[in-house]
Amino acid sequence: MLTTDVENYPGFPQGILGPDLMQLFRKQAERFGAEILNEDVTLVNLKSRPFAITADGKSYQTQSVIIATGAEAQWLNLENEQRLIGRGVSSCAPCDAFFFKDKKVVVVGGGDSAMEEALTLTKFATEVAIIHRRDQFRASKIMFDRTKANKKISFILNSEVVDVLGKDKVEGVKVKDVKTGKEKDIAVDGMFLAIGHKPLSDIFKGHIELDEMGYVRRIPQGDGPGKFQMTTSVEGVFVAGDVHDYHFRQAVTAAGYGSMAALEAEKWIESQE
Ligand code: NAP
Repeated sequence: MLTTDVENYPGFPQGILGPDLMQLFRKQAERFGAEILNEDVTLVNLKSRPFAITADGKSYQTQSVIIATGAEAQWLNLENEQRLIGRGVSSCAPCDAFFFKDKKVVVVGGGDSAMEEALTLTKFATEVAIIHRRDQFRASKIMFDRTKANKKISFILNSEVVDVLGKDKVEGVKVKDVKTGKEKDIAVDGMFLAIGHKPLSDIFKGHIELDEMGYVRRIPQGDGPGKFQMTTSVEGVFVAGDVHDYHFRQAVTAAGYGSMAALEAEKWIESQE
């Protein structure tokens, strides 16, 4: 819902706006009888069955739940960064790299995502600078080595972006050297954030297993070809999309996981007679 152009969802060769794609998903689900409630879930009880879900003050009882609450990109939370999201500021290189053909961009971060985003951007941009607040990288050696070997990529270390420049689109970034305190402006056409994602799993804390970063743990259950894949630590609770998957983070992979979770939830309910 929060993205603008989705260029990489199959079936839409001209691209489609995120909210329009969601409307189509919704219509299609409703055609098959899905009932959709636009309510904020504030509380869950997954400790005994039927499970209880509280949304907008009402309580719903259910035998099975699919958690698909997603994740949100972390931002620097600078005023001009927020204003220019979609106009040169992005958190998704696979989605937006194409728009930076023959342009200069910066990537903020020092983890695997930053390396991956920078490498993706080199397919289109002429120059990619990675801005990192330290001089040590969290990224794996293999990803870092691959990045370092790419001639289009340079590094600006011990530095923080303190402002994004440009009126209607990104024209540059103001960078501060954290050691000397000196600031300088760098002219670029885009800024990609790769400073982590936050899975939206707070309401499930204490009810199902989360990993140390807060992602829902997907725990395959059973044996053989009938093994459940999208299961969690609680029987009857399934998971799909970016709330458990920090690796792919694409609309199409999330939709695929959703389909797998739905098939398994149905099979599981049937097995309960
Ligand atoms: P991450 O490993 O947590 O790295 C986040 C980076 O952003 C860190 O370098 C951190 O700096 C920096 N950062 C955080 N907040 C910041 C801020 N406010 N200002 C400036 N910099 C900030 O996150 P990630 O790169 O998204 O990776 C998440 C997980 O996915 C990791 O386990 C990673 O290995 C995995 N992953 C793997 C691949 C792959 O193998 N191909 C690709 C993508 C992701 P500090 O280092 O100073 O804390």
